[in-house]
Amino acid sequence: MRKPKFQCPTGMHDILPEEQKYYKKIYDIVSDIADFYGFGKIDTPILEETELFSKGVGLATDIVKKQMYSLKTKGGDFLSLRPEWTAPVVRAYIENGMQNLPQPLKLWYFGPCYRYERPQANRYRQFWQFGFEVLGEKSPVIDAQIIQIFYNILRELKLKNLIVEVNSIGDSNCRPYYKKLLANYFRTREASLCVDCKKRLRENVLRILDCKGEKCQPIKAEAPQILDHLCEECHLHFKEVLEFLDEIEIPYNLNPYLVRGLDYYTKTVFEIFSGSSEKKESSRIALAGGGRYDKLVKLLGGKETSACGAAIGIERIINLMKSQQIKQGDKETETQIFLAQLGGLSKRKSLKLLEDFRKAKIRVAESFGRDSLKAQLSRADKIGARYALILGQKESLEEMIIIRNMKSGKQEIVKLNRVVAEMRKKLKK
Ligand code: AMP
Repeated sequence: MRKPKFQCPTGMHDILPEEQKYYKKIYDIVSDIADFYGFGKIDTPILEETELFSKGVGLATDIVKKQMYSLKTKGGDFLSLRPEWTAPVVRAYIENGMQNLPQPLKLWYFGPCYRYERPQANRYRQFWQFGFEVLGEKSPVIDAQIIQIFYNILRELKLKNLIVEVNSIGDSNCRPYYKKLLANYFRTREASLCVDCKKRLRENVLRILDCKGEKCQPIKAEAPQILDHLCEECHLHFKEVLEFLDEIEIPYNLNPYLVRGLDYYTKTVFEIFSGSSEKKESSRIALAGGGRYDKLVKLLGGKETSACGAAIGIERIINLMKSQQIKQGDKETETQIFLAQLGGLSKRKSLKLLEDFRKAKIRVAESFGRDSLKAQLSRADKIGARYALILGQKESLEEMIIIRNMKSGKQEIVKLNRVVAEMRKKLKK
């Protein structure tokens, strides 16, 4: 087949009607959980000042260095499509005076993000995220609760083989010293590092721990570990997070190499993967990521505020739901009634009848563009309707309508003004 002249931009995709049920299912579960835990929904513009991300996410991160869609407006503003939500949510928190409301403030979001990455399976240039942020709370109980919320959402979506990994990356007290130790260690082994890690050694040494390249694995394995170099406060905080996780029975692994790609994290970081723990790291799929970010609000111009949050990639969940063949509650949205009409008067009456069904919240399919009964009944068959309602010229004049059981072929005739109630009864059976 020849390629059409216009296509979706590379790495982006349409969300067609048959895909929407996945987004809806996820949205419904997430918004229920958000309500339960007292999170308010927030939407922010898709575009933000570029500086918000270079400052908030960090100049040395892949996201800011390579992955932003940036533009200059006619008025001379530099804007970028949001590559993630935390910096915009913090901007909105500060700008809208939410720091003055009772704390902690809990917010959640659901919408698209943009990253100019090399498209591949599970990696897109436009992808949807939902996330939860708690601002104004420093207690480790929140870190554990965020992990719990994300774990529960994935469980509620019936995803299997979930692996939670946690680590602490310290704070401005202990991390600089650890980074120095790490840089010294890797510098003496620089010749054996991969090309990317040689660069990371100068720009962002922690990211070497994140490297998936074969070459760097044996060197990483011997590197000093941050958990041995946390300051007292970070150590205690992390210990308590783990105790809470034990208490709420969330299974987790400690992963000393987990550092996350964004600069704003302090103390706890975590990710949730899908895969089995025996399998190679590269075959796992990262579903959710987050952590604590106690310095970000101040960095973006607000008061000193502790915070913690996380995000999930929605397409990745949907791909997993499909591969694990998780059904999407089609039953509730299935249309069980088809309304067929014959002739001008019937068509007019059918329009009115369709409205009555809509008000009664009963789904009814139709095909008003078709005139032959045969074509309409074959459509009813195709969509799997249990009943066809047939409104012919004669029935219309007599204010009656035929109910046909599509399976048995049995027909009965009822008064037009009784048909909604009658169908409600039948559907309940
Ligand atoms: P991050 O903001 O990088 O921590 O990502 C959080 C989650 O978003 C990841 O665990 C993925 O599920 C998802 N994600 C990140 N980048 C992409 C991408 N390019 N395409 C699809 N999903 C992504």
